[in-house]
Amino acid sequence: MKLWKVLLSVCLFSLLLPTLSALGATANPTIHLVLNGVELKPLVQPRFVNDYTIVPIRVISEGLGAKIGFDQKQQKVTITKDKTKIELFINKKEALVNGEKKQLDLTPVLEKDTTLVPLRFVGEQFNVKFRYDPDTTTVLMDSKEEDKNPTPTPPPKPEKPTKPDENGSTDKETKPDKKPDTNNLTVSQIETTETSFAIKTDSDQSKPKVMELQNPHRLVFDIENAVLGKELLTKVEKTEGKIDSKHPLISQIRYSQFSNDPATVRVTLDLTATAKYRLIPSVKGSTEIRAEIYTTTIGEKKDKYIIVLDAGHGAHDPGASATSANGRTEKEFTLAMVKKLGALLEKEAKLQVLYTRSDDTFVELDDRVSFANNYGADLFLSIHGNSFTSKSRGTETYYYNPNSLDFASVIHQYAVDATGFIDRKVQKSGFRVIKGTTMPAALLEVGFLSNKEEADMMYQEVFQNKLANSLVKGIKEYLNLK
Ligand SMILES: [Zn+2]
Repeated sequence: MKLWKVLLSVCLFSLLLPTLSALGATANPTIHLVLNGVELKPLVQPRFVNDYTIVPIRVISEGLGAKIGFDQKQQKVTITKDKTKIELFINKKEALVNGEKKQLDLTPVLEKDTTLVPLRFVGEQFNVKFRYDPDTTTVLMDSKEEDKNPTPTPPPKPEKPTKPDENGSTDKETKPDKKPDTNNLTVSQIETTETSFAIKTDSDQSKPKVMELQNPHRLVFDIENAVLGKELLTKVEKTEGKIDSKHPLISQIRYSQFSNDPATVRVTLDLTATAKYRLIPSVKGSTEIRAEIYTTTIGEKKDKYIIVLDAGHGAHDPGASATSANGRTEKEFTLAMVKKLGALLEKEAKLQVLYTRSDDTFVELDDRVSFANNYGADLFLSIHGNSFTSKSRGTETYYYNPNSLDFASVIHQYAVDATGFIDRKVQKSGFRVIKGTTMPAALLEVGFLSNKEEADMMYQEVFQNKLANSLVKGIKEYLNLK
């Protein structure tokens, strides 16, 4: 296995922490990265070089959803998203964007065990806007992937007169509504993603009152001392405005100027099922209210639970390769594991098993997510083989959304029991398949294919069967199935 390929595999970056914290720690503050209002949690610290932020390439792939490739011969990193292809060369200031030459302010570097790339340059090629907040040492990024739903430059702090506002209109529209003699804040925008929803205001003081209502299922957010901005106001017909939702649990959003004295804006989420919400703490200076909306499986007794099994990688994306097993690939291991686990789960009367792939095909990460969301799956389990150095070892399990922690913990415990490998614990990270899925979701890194000892075991039938049996117990325990 070529070192480089290993370095760029998505599975291995968690291990870079110990080495990189050393090089990132040199008098550098902790830099926060916030994309569209959501804080990214890179496991390796971003840092500044001559006022530019340089970040581990994982931030690009996870945060922006770009694909990463590496050409060892040319020492070239390829970053692809939509129709944009960026080619960066290690230690070279010249880059190619869709074949066109561009000059970089700083060069991509290979340090210790990871590639660090200039964030702003890469982001700008993908139409991501940047703003740096020195108070919180936060790089605020806004992607404009959907122009129809103009999002989010997190509005600047009120006292700042200049505004990097690409829409131009928001400012003009909110200002006339602001009554100088009141302290009312203005609600300028309401929007959803696949996992959350957000109310944009012009104040960082807005705290909603939330009501959970049943029959039908609704979540009601009241924002006091608030008025609707002009844009939202013009869409209100008679008493109520309506907004379409991208979130699978929200069928539609309704909003109104619920009361004028005191001024209250009401935002009602009509839900497709019972759902929980969690307000996401905002970074300092942020003026949006963002809440994660998620399901709760446990507690409701169901006749049948749907579990989606996700074999990592596939086809032209082989994942990591085992050093010991002559090029046997991670995609082969994950598929074998998922098939064994699935066969056992299919015997359970109360379980329906769905597979994101059942042969050697390639499925986009986002398609794996929407597959599980669209089927209304109750659980999502992604299986991978880890890769880093030949000495790395152990089993680790990832979760991202808060409703996934319990499931990940149970899966992890049963996985460690079966593998007998070192316990690398349950960790939080924003892998796309566990971030975008709304049901409890876990990503299991069974062991290290880069470690000869672990890889040799992981391809054995006995090992795989033992792990599959143990995971069935974990899944049944989590679902309270006898
Ligand atoms: Zn993997």
